[in-house]
Amino acid sequence: MLEKVILPSNVEKAGKLFDNAEKIVIVTHVSPDGDAIGSSLGLLHFLETQGKNVHVVVPNAFPDFLRWMPGAKDIVRYDRYTDFANQLIAEADLICCLDFNVLSRIDAVARPVEAAGCKKLMVDHHLYPGDFCDVIISHPQISSTSELVFRLICRLGYFEDITLEGAQCIYTGMMTDTGGFTYNSNDRQIYFIISELISKGIDKDEIYRKVFNTYSEGRLRLMGYVLYEKMQVYPQFRSALICLTKAEQSKFHYVKGDTEGFVNIPLQMKGVCFSAFLREDTEKPMVKVSLRSVGAFPCNQVAAEFFNGGGHLNASGGEFYGTMDEAIEVFKRALIHYEEKLLKN
Ligand code: 5GP
Ligand code: MN
Repeated sequence: MLEKVILPSNVEKAGKLFDNAEKIVIVTHVSPDGDAIGSSLGLLHFLETQGKNVHVVVPNAFPDFLRWMPGAKDIVRYDRYTDFANQLIAEADLICCLDFNVLSRIDAVARPVEAAGCKKLMVDHHLYPGDFCDVIISHPQISSTSELVFRLICRLGYFEDITLEGAQCIYTGMMTDTGGFTYNSNDRQIYFIISELISKGIDKDEIYRKVFNTYSEGRLRLMGYVLYEKMQVYPQFRSALICLTKAEQSKFHYVKGDTEGFVNIPLQMKGVCFSAFLREDTEKPMVKVSLRSVGAFPCNQVAAEFFNGGGHLNASGGEFYGTMDEAIEVFKRALIHYEEKLLKN
């Protein structure tokens, strides 16, 4: 049996929002990951069984290894189909904000969403939810938004209406936000939910292969290159850093998603509990920062204090507006600032 995580009053309010809406738009964060796409499509498949007219709008591209997901080909990219997306948002009866806590996380989509007069529902697991939705279902202790979508559907009494396609999407989000159930995944209810999803017919081993074992040659060679040539280890700080310039990205024919997960690799080293990956962005003049930690070390504090970002205790990120060299200097300063916590961890 699932414990009741979502407040009964919020389940009721979300149910009313769904009941009263015909046209529903689901939005999720910039550079959507498996949980962003998984939770959005998981909710879409459910709402479609209820006869709703549903669209998922994302700010920009999502990685190739998520393209197989049922419904992914109909996702509307805001950066490509801006007018169409604006129209969908303006005409929506309900906007569901999934896997993000503040409007700045949806970049240019924030403006039309903020301007829309319709009701808004947040389903998310990031700390400090902003105040831009009518109903806020925010549970940072839950390891994925996809799990929250599953819980919400069940609490509304519609477990039977979860289709195979919906179950595949929900499972993908739960799997990717826990690194294939290797972190944030000690809650035994996760495995109860997986069992329920398997009852819908999902092939979890196949989903794992589709997401994690579909690397391009370029990605694998890039991985080899960054580990051999670029990884800096700071044993005195129990930390490691990998950075990647624009020139290096073009040398390895980088496409979005190719560096996904690189930040986790240095944590496989004994003694390393904090890892950073810095990548010169190809779209904006900034360095994209990804941070990961193990144990109690709060990499989200580092993201907030040094890199205009935030996130979870063990997985966070941000943006640095400056050169790569400056970003590296800031990272080193952060190590010194956090030395005590790093060594205590
Ligand atoms: P990733 O390293 O996979 O890009 O991001 C990991 C987590 O860090 C995300 O799930 C999100 O919570 C957080 N995060 C990443 N980039 C940003 C950012 O620019 N700003 C904020 N506030 N959080 C971010
Ligand atoms: Mn998530």
